[in-house]
Amino acid sequence: MAKERLYLFDTTLRDGAQTNGVDFTLADKLAIAKMLDELGIDYIEGGYPGANPTDSEFFGSKHDYRGRFTAFGMTRRPGRSASNDPGLAALLDAQADAICFVAKSWDYHVRVALETTPEENLASIRDSVRAAKARGREVLLDCEHFFDGYKANPEFALACAKTAYDEGARWVVLCDTNGGTLPHEVERIVTDVCRAIPGTHVGMHAHNDTEQAVANSFAAVRAGARQIQGTLNGLGERCGNANLVSIIPTLKLKSDYADRFEIGVSDAALKKLAQISHALDERLNRAPDRHAPYVGESAFATKAGIHASAIMKDPATYEHVAPERVGNKRKVLVSEQAGKSNVLAELDRIGLKVNKDDPRIGRLLEVVKERETLGYAYEAADASFELLARRTLGAVPDYFDVTQFDVTVEHRYNANGERVTVAMAVVKVKVGDESTISAAEGNGPVNALDQALRKDLGKYQKYIEGLRLSDFRVRILNSGTAAVTRVLIESEDENGERWTTIGVSPNIIDASFQALMDSVVFKLVKSNAPA
Ligand SMILES: [Zn+2]
Repeated sequence: MAKERLYLFDTTLRDGAQTNGVDFTLADKLAIAKMLDELGIDYIEGGYPGANPTDSEFFGSKHDYRGRFTAFGMTRRPGRSASNDPGLAALLDAQADAICFVAKSWDYHVRVALETTPEENLASIRDSVRAAKARGREVLLDCEHFFDGYKANPEFALACAKTAYDEGARWVVLCDTNGGTLPHEVERIVTDVCRAIPGTHVGMHAHNDTEQAVANSFAAVRAGARQIQGTLNGLGERCGNANLVSIIPTLKLKSDYADRFEIGVSDAALKKLAQISHALDERLNRAPDRHAPYVGESAFATKAGIHASAIMKDPATYEHVAPERVGNKRKVLVSEQAGKSNVLAELDRIGLKVNKDDPRIGRLLEVVKERETLGYAYEAADASFELLARRTLGAVPDYFDVTQFDVTVEHRYNANGERVTVAMAVVKVKVGDESTISAAEGNGPVNALDQALRKDLGKYQKYIEGLRLSDFRVRILNSGTAAVTRVLIESEDENGERWTTIGVSPNIIDASFQALMDSVVFKLVKSNAPA
């Protein structure tokens, strides 16, 4: 049986740009649009031409995306003709394949916010759709506050949608603008709408204010809608929009949807999903959500020993889908409750071949437990665990030795009479028979230490050029009589690979130093640097 086509519409660059703290540059927009296009999104909404310089520039030149490049804007203003509305003119002039208009569909908003009549609102929708069609554009209408509007006045809400459809709009999109509608309500209302307008012309735009934007999108599809709007990583105002990064794998991998529907995302593109999700976070300078469904670092992580041994035998026992299909990785956490099977599974994952009766496995397990009582947490520091395992098995060369380091923090007045804090570090490193001394300043003691350590590693320097710290977390632990500090450092290399290392000490500089050292050594191991 032929599958039905379901369309995906991405609004990361328009609605997603409303996220608190997000401010896309033109370069960001170009890069994100490219990622969306590679993923196979059908509609890429670029923004609001005429509303700000970045969006005007973005729409100023022709794009050759596979997906339909879409401009967003308002229908003509009430009381004006379509030909005498500068906002509408900018929208019609934009270099776009499609135009997505937004219009009110709640009579209360028409009266109070727009201060016009229901008839004029319908006329504005009709004229705008007509004008865009005349310019050869595919047309979509976002019906703002559709669900709240429908509850208050179903005839009027439906009339707004129907007017656009009758005038030739390809899609009418039902927006849950306030995000408070629940899945059973969405299903009921979309079912009603699909009696008047074919579902192949109906879309859903959900916001996440009750954390059900994804569920609401699926409810709309079950009721007949055939377009889903959403954003990467659920970006968006307040609690965000429907998260396409969760929706796409569900459509591709869950048989209720996969057997019935076809989407523009190929199996090969799906394997890049985790990478795309993380690349967006990287661009926004945010740490990726570890617990994000499908793509988070913990999405396929297992802790307890009994589960780990079952996963080794058959991963399907504890996984709802195979992590590789979305570009993620299985991970068995090594923790205080670590059983031998966890350790074996983890060694297997990192590619260390060891006989399961090897006495060194028992020793490694003992060392892990011992260090965890001191405050180490290897489940959060994969790279430090790998180094510990490799060292216990005698497989890490002594690349270099830091024979001494010194960090000073100075607080003083600068030439302008402002109070400034300056940190400086000096590090003595021995590589083979050669000793070097490096000094560096930093915005803090750990930054200075990091800069100095990485300034001159002799023959190993070339391996660490692309290494950088992407996150630094500090926790004070109260173990026994004295407080100790646990430092977790996340590093990233030139290939976008990330790893986490750990240090524990009563002294925060010393804890940071351990984590920094592990990060550098891990990079050398990973790069197969010669001893
Ligand atoms: Zn929205």
